[in-house]
Order: sequence, then C-alpha cells, then structure tokens
Amino acid sequence: VALLEADSVGFSYRGGTPALTDVSLTVRAGRNVALVGESGAGKSTLLRLLLGLARPTTGEIRFAGRPLTRGRLREYRRAVQAVFQDPYSSLDPRHRIGRIVAEPLRGLGLRADPARVAAALDAVGLPADTASRYPHEFSGGQRQRVAIARAIVCDPKVLLADEPVSALDLTTRVRIVDLLASLCAERDLTIMLVSHDLGVVAELCRHTAVLESGRLVEQGDTSQVLGSP
Ligand code: ADP
Ligand code: ADP
Repeated sequence: VALLEADSVGFSYRGGTPALTDVSLTVRAGRNVALVGESGAGKSTLLRLLLGLARPTTGEIRFAGRPLTRGRLREYRRAVQAVFQDPYSSLDPRHRIGRIVAEPLRGLGLRADPARVAAALDAVGLPADTASRYPHEFSGGQRQRVAIARAIVCDPKVLLADEPVSALDLTTRVRIVDLLASLCAERDLTIMLVSHDLGVVAELCRHTAVLESGRLVEQGDTSQVLGSP
C-alpha cells in the first residue's frame, strides 16, 4: 500500500538553483526506506516538503493517494510525524516532558490525555513519571526517546527520521536504532530515514533511495544500492 508519495517533485529556493528536480519516491506500508546522499543533495529539502513545511514548486506530495493541500495539513499531521537529529534543540526546555509529548495531540485539537502520554513514554522505554520532569534532567539518548514518544503519541503511519542517531554516542545509537526497529515491528509504523550512517541504514531499511544534486539517481534493495561501488 502506498502511504506517502512524492510525484515528480521539484523545488527551488527563492532565487536559487533547483534543490530538487523531478523526484518520485513512494513510501509503502511496512517498507522502511532510507534516503541517502552527499551533503547538499536535497535530503532535508525533500523531508521538509514531505512534512508539509513547504510546498513543491512542481509536482505533488500525496498521502494515501490524496494530494496534500493546505486544508489537509492537519489530518496529514496525524499520519506523518518526524524525529530530528538534535535531541537538545528539539525539546522546549521550558515545558515538562508530559506537555512536550502531548504536543501533537494538542495540535490535532485532541485532549492531552495523560494515559496516552504515559503509553507513548512506555513504548520508548521511559517510566511514566518522566512526564512531570524537564528536558534538562535527561541525557541525549533519553531526550531522543522523548522526541520519539512525541512523534508516535498520535499513532502516525509514517515516521520521518532525519539523522535520528547522529548526535548520540555509539552505545546510545545502538539502543535507539533497536527502539526504532521494534516500534516498526510492533506498530503499524513505517520509517523514512535520512542517515549518512550506512550501518544504521542497513539495520532499519530494506529499501534505499539515493539523491544526487537534487535528483533521485538510484533506488532499490539496500544491499544492492549500498553494495554497488
Ligand atoms: P541535504 O539535506 O542533502 O544536505 P539540503 O536539502 O539541505 O541538502 O540542500 C539542498 C540544496 O538546497 C543545497 O544546494 C543547499 O545549498 C540549498 N538550500 C538548502 N536550504 C536552503 C535555503 N534555506 N535557502 C537557499 N538554498 C538552500
Ligand atoms: P497560498 O499560496 O495558498 O497562500 P503558501 O504557498 O503561501 O499558500 O503556503 C501557505 C502555508 O501552507 C505554508 O506556510 C505551508 O506551511 C502550508 N503548506 C504546506 N504544504 C502545503 C501544500 N502541500 N499545499 C498547500 N499548502 C501547504
């Protein structure tokens, strides 16, 4: 089943050369896909379009077969969430973890149900009392767990993960990768991963797409794509 699709997507920053040209990519249910490419290839730009933070200059983004429009952004947010690289800047230091994790629920106009927050914290291996504490009380790995709890609290179908373990030390990396893998196995959740760590890519994604200067130059089985010179 096609969940998220970029169909012939192009994007240019104001006055700039094209950051993306004719990119077509499909995220299918249960098939985690990695997006790899050199710095400047357009990975972050594509993720921003897939998150609805900017609109493609040409082509379109679809979810479950329906074009993403401004009017559908809210319902789209329920289905597509994200985790970013830096677990320090992504959590508002002024708010308790419980409030941070509940953000997507509030954004959807739903009640910030403490039971749902506790369930999300439990799913990422954090005790329920984490909700009453503040981000500064936690390590980078724990903060990334909080960010993942926030991303899954509304039961999204797709998790866009932008270098989710790059800022973490090696041991913590392994734990967070294991967590992401188990969330995919246990929930109806598919990951689109951006990572320069090919070990992490191979661990999480059977499918890999390669961006080069804003174009998708290759996609296929991760072993084949990464195995080729
Ligand atoms: P990646 O995430 O693969 O490193 P980006 O999507 O960040 O690539 O960048 C793709 C291209 O778009 C690069 O040429 C970059 O310089 C350009 N770019 C990125 N952000 C902006 C911006 N805010 N304004 C203008 N150009 C940008
Ligand atoms: P308009 O031209 O319809 O006023 P803009 O292009 O200025 O719309 O975008 C307005 C807001 O819509 C942007 O801030 C952006 O967050 C949001 N938006 C994001 N993705 C899309 C999309 N695919 N289609 C329409 N609007 C989008």
